[in-house]
Amino acid sequence: MSSRTPRLRNTLAFRLTLWYAGIFAVSSCIAFLLFYTLITSVIRDRTDQELAGQVRRFAATLTSEGIDEVTKAAVIEAQAAGVRKVFFRLLYPTGVAFSSSNMAYWQDIAIRGSAIRQLLQGMGPVFETVVVPGRKDEVRILYAMLSPGIIVQVGEAMENYSRFLDAFKGIFIATMAFLIVLAAGVGWFMAKRAVSGVEAVTRTARMISAGTIEKRVPVKTRGDEIDQLAVTFNQMLDRVETLLTELREMTDNIAHDLKSPVTRIRGAAEVTLTTGKSLGEYEAMAAGTIEECDRLLDMINTMLLISKTEAGVDKLNVEEIDLARTLRDACELFRPGAEDKGITLSCETPEKLQVNGDVRMIQRMLSNLLDNGIKYTPSGGSVEISLSENERHLALISIKDTGVGISEPELPRIFERFYRSDQSRSQAGMGLGLSLARAIARAHGGDISVTSALGMGSTFTITLSTQPRRT
Ligand code: ADP
Repeated sequence: MSSRTPRLRNTLAFRLTLWYAGIFAVSSCIAFLLFYTLITSVIRDRTDQELAGQVRRFAATLTSEGIDEVTKAAVIEAQAAGVRKVFFRLLYPTGVAFSSSNMAYWQDIAIRGSAIRQLLQGMGPVFETVVVPGRKDEVRILYAMLSPGIIVQVGEAMENYSRFLDAFKGIFIATMAFLIVLAAGVGWFMAKRAVSGVEAVTRTARMISAGTIEKRVPVKTRGDEIDQLAVTFNQMLDRVETLLTELREMTDNIAHDLKSPVTRIRGAAEVTLTTGKSLGEYEAMAAGTIEECDRLLDMINTMLLISKTEAGVDKLNVEEIDLARTLRDACELFRPGAEDKGITLSCETPEKLQVNGDVRMIQRMLSNLLDNGIKYTPSGGSVEISLSENERHLALISIKDTGVGISEPELPRIFERFYRSDQSRSQAGMGLGLSLARAIARAHGGDISVTSALGMGSTFTITLSTQPRRT
């Protein structure tokens, strides 16, 4: 058996079945014992009443007709009921018998001195149950005073009752055996049904570990715990699959973005080697290589910075800064470039707005967004920057352009590392600017959101907390 398939006795279904059948058997046995004790005590009470009734009749006969009639009545009564079923013995208070019914069958029944003593002490009639050796059934015996000088000992075999109890036991054991097998069967069926959902999850997990990440656990519509497990498991798989896809795409993008400059460097070197003759050509090649390497280094450093910012590895150099001034400075920095391109750059800020943050990081975030606004807006357009504070003490920076816009399906993807829309490929860029900007905003307890319409322009909104950070 493989180590993955649990042995039958280790399975949950088997253990549940065992518990189910076990609890059923124990509770049935308790019920049987209670019932058995009840029946036995009812039977004993009835026998005792019969014996006491007999004694009352003898006492009445003794009072009305005398002892001779009682001895005769005893013999007749015993014959009528069956000499094997009942016996009567009349005794003196000394314990000596002076008359009895046919005792051939009752030889072994002794006269118990202690019972007679108890009787003479006036403690009322004495009952006892005697087991006669060699006989299956028990005998119930009553000692009672008929008159101050006469004691009667009456005995009755409990044969019928024992037969009844034997039959009861037999039927009970047979029924129980059948019901326990049935309970185990039903228990097994129910336990199997209950764990079938878990088995489905296990099967899917096994297929996934064998390489098919697209598999999902079938979800029933019952909405029970197993369904919830399946739904949660499937959601987790969706998330893992998305992450894997993103990771794969990112790796592809990195490979692609690294390949182009390396290919260019190699191509330039090869061309210079084969055709270049002058020092000037070699110098140009070295300059080109430095430029490409700088680009590569810049890309690698940005990637590292994003990772570190997201993971919070490098502590931010948090200080109180005037965000309004930082924004105005950024606008001044980008204005000449925008004007060169024929774009109007407007900047509307309050006089002062204090926030706690790392000024260098915030500058980097702003310049990425401003750079994008200008880069993706054609000549004649405008980029409007504004800063305000809302009632929840959040600083809102809005960067609104009238540029090319972003299509609906691309919107959620633009913050991914290396993501660049097809139409922006003509522009310079690495697809890392927005990822870094968002990582910075989040590291400051804020975020960046975007709304856009293709061909109409985009609005990026940065939120930052103006409250002092508690770290
Ligand atoms: P890069 O600008 O280097 O390509 P970014 O991470 O800054 O990388 O942006 C990712 C993508 O988002 C861009 O390639 C572009 O398609 C889109 N984008 C970003 N800002 C704008 C904008 N203001 N207008 C239109 N598209 C934008």
